[in-house]
Amino acid sequence: MNKSIICTVCPMSCNVTLELDDNGEIISVSGNRCPRGKTYSIKEHTAPERTLTTTVRAVGGVHPLLPVRTDKPIPKGLLLQAMKETAKITVKAPVKMGDVIVENFLNTGANLVASRDL
Ligand code: SF4
Repeated sequence: MNKSIICTVCPMSCNVTLELDDNGEIISVSGNRCPRGKTYSIKEHTAPERTLTTTVRAVGGVHPLLPVRTDKPIPKGLLLQAMKETAKITVKAPVKMGDVIVENFLNTGANLVASRDL
């Protein structure tokens, strides 16, 4: 069985093919133009991660919402839970871009930070 993954590490967007056995274990990797694509596609298959970008409620500022993001990718499987958690958060202005809103968000090691000033 083959699995195709578009490498997003650089603008070349290589179409990487993983050859998998019946258990989903990787037999071979092809289509990547450089070693970073191999590393990326293996991680994407075994433990995919995404940077969360969303908004939280804000009071005392010009805008009712503050854009936030995680300062590094978190496991893709946690994104739904992460969205539920951010829905509970209200920040108070003033806030500076880069301010940590939640440290070690969901015990991922990533901080939830402000994406702009408020
Ligand atoms: S495999 Fe290498 S060249 Fe291709 S998109 Fe990924 S990083 Fe870029």
